[in-house]
Amino acid sequence: MNINDLHENHDLALIRADNPSPFTLEGTNTWIVGRNPAWVIDPGPLLDAHLDLVAQEVTRRGGAGAIVLTHDHADHAEGTSGLRQRLAGLPIAAARGDVDIRLSGGDRIGPFEVIATPGHAADHLSYVSGKVAFTGDTVLGHGSVFITPDPGALTDYLDGLGRLRELDLAWICPGHGPVVDDPAAKLDQYIAHRLDRELKLVSALARGLRLPEDLLDDVWADAPVYLRAAAAVTLRAHLDKLDDEGRLPSGVVRPELPSWLGH
Ligand SMILES: [Zn+2]
Repeated sequence: MNINDLHENHDLALIRADNPSPFTLEGTNTWIVGRNPAWVIDPGPLLDAHLDLVAQEVTRRGGAGAIVLTHDHADHAEGTSGLRQRLAGLPIAAARGDVDIRLSGGDRIGPFEVIATPGHAADHLSYVSGKVAFTGDTVLGHGSVFITPDPGALTDYLDGLGRLRELDLAWICPGHGPVVDDPAAKLDQYIAHRLDRELKLVSALARGLRLPEDLLDDVWADAPVYLRAAAAVTLRAHLDKLDDEGRLPSGVVRPELPSWLGH
């Protein structure tokens, strides 16, 4: 399907923040959907030039109904108060935090159906409008995401991917990277990727590996050095899942969580 179809038929705008990094890819995507009112998905980081552009686009579209957050990580949510200052009185909708509208899976807001997609973050929501899913950091334009170890995080993540996979989607608009024009294939690939990691981890454990460094070297041998800390976080979520399922052998040492995770 042609990308113009997405932007014109679904009346949305992408404004990408200038915050590229290994975690944010080309930068955070702020999506603005519809008009009179428009809806802002993820204001992005606190960068004045970015927030100015978002506010201009919202104003051009007759003002906004609300800011809706996929999750509260800084690269998506930090600009919320700055955007609110530029667009006075705008309500904030999200799953947690100091918000005006508290959302959970199954809710509706504006043109969106709210889908619970925890895993990358416990509060993560995706928003579906017609055949378009705005997936934040649940599904990216390329690469994979880290899973934040919370009780049941990886199982919940796979469930959320499964919920998205059941929908008749034509487009995924992710929180980072390019739009995805084959959502079913991308979701299948994401699910297969996680299960493949699990198989490799089960194999490594069966061969007697027990220490985080050894498990990372073996199971995440393909991960570049700068993503190793994220891989360690995801390893811990995988170990938690095996433990929950009674499949974790004794003597496994879980990796420490980095301070940037806020745990
Ligand atoms: Zn992000």
